[in-house]
Amino acid sequence: MYAYKGYEKYKNEKLSDKASELAKLKDGQSPNTLFITCSDSRICPNEMTSTKEGELFVIRNAGNSIPHERSSQGNADAATLEYAVKVLGVKEIVVCGHSHCGAVNALLGGVDATELPVIASYLQHLNELKSLSLEKKLSPAESINENVRFQIANIKSYDFVQKAVDNGLKIYGWLYHIENGDVEVLED
Ligand SMILES: [Zn+2]
Repeated sequence: MYAYKGYEKYKNEKLSDKASELAKLKDGQSPNTLFITCSDSRICPNEMTSTKEGELFVIRNAGNSIPHERSSQGNADAATLEYAVKVLGVKEIVVCGHSHCGAVNALLGGVDATELPVIASYLQHLNELKSLSLEKKLSPAESINENVRFQIANIKSYDFVQKAVDNGLKIYGWLYHIENGDVEVLED
């Protein structure tokens, strides 16, 4: 079991040093940031933000997407967003897209719905982005940026987010370059 071997290494080398810190976490969590990023294995949210257990609330999926409020019913990521904002009261939300994103590339390139029916159906949520990319002849890199902006607009479609923004919640778009680790903070 590959993952468990890694856990054993962590346990032997690091866990004893963190025992008292971890014990405190049983009382609850109060993360500063909701970090929404892609499932891509080349992104390590805690490593790249120098955060540890309890500091980063994370949503990950293919293409770092959040559905618009109108299609949020029963959606796990929308529910997690609601929990982060209304229950945990996070102070900021970061939507972190990344270079060479397979989800955005699949959207632009098209997916064989017979081979990959679930992915094809999921990508329909991003059809607006596809239309914009075609219309404006955006490069894959530009489309990845636009995807971050679309997701921020979707996040802002929730009343509870609007209310939190009025009370100081900040929302940022990032573009992470997997080839060198650089982060670009996108302008509004
Ligand atoms: Zn990706």
